[in-house]
Amino acid sequence: MTILSYPDFLQTTSRILLESQNVPRHNAILLIEFERLPELDGVLGYRVVDDLVGQAAGMIRHALNPQDIVGTVGRYQITCLLTDLLTDEHASLAASKIMRVLAQPLLLNEHRINLFSRIGIAIKHSCNSCIDQLMRTANLALHGARAEREPVKLLVEQSTDSQPMGIDLLSDLEVAIEAGEIFLVYQPKFDIACGRITSTEALLRWTHPQQGAIRPDKLIQLVESTPLMTKLTLWIMNTALRQCSEYRRSGLDAGVSINFSAEDLRDPELADLVLQSLALWQVPAEVITIELTETAVMEDDAHALQVLHKFKEIGLKLSMDDFGTGYSSMARLLQVPLDEIKIDMLFVRNMLKSRMHERIVDTMINLGHQLDLHVVAEGVEDEATYARLQELGCDTIQGYLIGKGMPLPELIQTARNQILPPATSEKQASSGG
Ligand code: C2E
Ligand code: CA
Ligand code: CA
Repeated sequence: MTILSYPDFLQTTSRILLESQNVPRHNAILLIEFERLPELDGVLGYRVVDDLVGQAAGMIRHALNPQDIVGTVGRYQITCLLTDLLTDEHASLAASKIMRVLAQPLLLNEHRINLFSRIGIAIKHSCNSCIDQLMRTANLALHGARAEREPVKLLVEQSTDSQPMGIDLLSDLEVAIEAGEIFLVYQPKFDIACGRITSTEALLRWTHPQQGAIRPDKLIQLVESTPLMTKLTLWIMNTALRQCSEYRRSGLDAGVSINFSAEDLRDPELADLVLQSLALWQVPAEVITIELTETAVMEDDAHALQVLHKFKEIGLKLSMDDFGTGYSSMARLLQVPLDEIKIDMLFVRNMLKSRMHERIVDTMINLGHQLDLHVVAEGVEDEATYARLQELGCDTIQGYLIGKGMPLPELIQTARNQILPPATSEKQASSGG
């Protein structure tokens, strides 16, 4: 009943997969991660965290059948090969069993520690799929679970020649970045008191040669936790700063907001890279806003907080995106050096239809102002909503009323008009958004 190191796990599972090639039974790989481990490293130290992972691996080993194989992947993940499954449901059942076992707190001296776990499952259907491929599929399933905030996600791997869509997309993206196939569009942020566009939000676009437009949020989910993420983020940041510098030179006195994902905040070098990019494109730091989702900001992560404080030292502004939809804690709201909140469009788009939604918007505007934060309402699609937001004291609006995400020349043209455009401009701008 041993727990294998990762190289031993790969070797053993490769052999088992090879031997079971002609057996009409399924195999599955489970990849299990623990959300709190990186944070516990800082509090308890590496040795203690390694012991906790060892305890968890032992509990998983105990919950599975003796012929299943258990190994570790790095310091924070555990993986298992389930053999001889009659149906895919058996893999889900095994995952539920593991979740139940891991839901019990681990014991550390007198302390009880909960490691919040998540499982990605890859099911092998094809006779000739290899362990590398199954591990990649399990990793994609785990990303999916993380992004969808589900405890378990299952992906079926069909065959060697039809890999899961994500893997194709990832390799295509690498080429697309090199070939300049991805681009940014800019959605205006309209300041109500100034009566003009004072900033924009850079939004990622990729038109895949075969699959057409790929949703940016889906793309980011897929890339997160792969080495491509840093490359993509640097490309986004550099492009946004270069184009911001370009529109500022053309006479549009506006900043730019860039979306960073939770994953980006794990990179301790990011702040220095931003600094270099600002110097290169000669854009003042104070016109740049970093938009973070509530989940990224709220993740109780000392490293992320450090990166955010570095951003502030440089002079960047921090904005909390999709405010009201994540898991906020008021205490955390005070810890994070925010400048802005963006009220999620879920509330804004329903505020004229539902009193409760309108009250929530009103409350969020007041809360933001009480904390000296700039308040942006996103998803403003009509004049009536704009008028009501103005009455409620909202500072900035963003949405199709002002314009969709648009390529640079169109943005410069829209800004030259600098008035609330009539509803028709929404269609004009739609080519980019
Ligand atoms: P987000 O940051 O909340 O961006 C706002 C999304 O709402 C954009 O969708 C935008 O086109 C859309 N939107 C804006 N105004 C309106 C409106 O009035 N009505 C409606 N119905 N929709 C509106 P998009 O561009 O598809 O982006 C989706 C998400 O993808 C973004 O949500 C953001 O989370 C992510 N994303 C986009 N670009 C990037 C990027 O460069 N980096 C990262 N990390 N994430 C990005
Ligand atoms: Ca955003
Ligand atoms: Ca948003």
